[in-house]
Amino acid sequence: MNCLFCEIVAGRIPSQKVYEDDQFLVFKDIAPQAPVHVLVIPKVHYANVTSLTQSDPQLVSGLFSVITKQASALGVDQSGFRVVTNTGREGGQSVDHVHFHVMGGRPMHWPPG
Ligand code: 5GP
Ligand code: ZN
Repeated sequence: MNCLFCEIVAGRIPSQKVYEDDQFLVFKDIAPQAPVHVLVIPKVHYANVTSLTQSDPQLVSGLFSVITKQASALGVDQSGFRVVTNTGREGGQSVDHVHFHVMGGRPMHWPPG
C-alpha cells in the first residue's frame, strides 16, 4: 500500500517526532496552522475515523489518552486546544491514514472554513 503516513511510521519518510509508543506516533504537521500543530496517528493503518472506530474501539480510547497527554506536554492544556479529524472528500481529508490534528497556541475561530 502506498500510504504517506505508513511511510512515516516505518521511518522511510522523515518526520519531526514528538512522541512515540508501540501503538501511536505524534509528529509535527509539515504545514503548521498554529504555533502548536501536531498529528496523532495509530501506527496501524486505518483509512479514517469510521474505519478505526468500527475495527478497534479500544484503540480510540488510547488515542484520546495520547491526544490529551500531548496537549499537556505541548503546553496548551490550560490555554486551550483544538482536536480535528477531517474525514472524506467534503470533510477535507487529504491523507487517507486516520490522523487527529492537535492545534493550539493561538485563539481558534469558529466556524472553521
Ligand atoms: P488532512 O488534510 O488529511 O486533514 O491533513 C493532512 C495533514 O498532513 C495536513 O495538515 C498536511 O500539512 C500534513 N502533511 C502532508 N504531508 C505531510 C508530510 O509529508 N509530513 C508531515 N509531517 N505532514 C504532512
Ligand atoms: Zn497508512
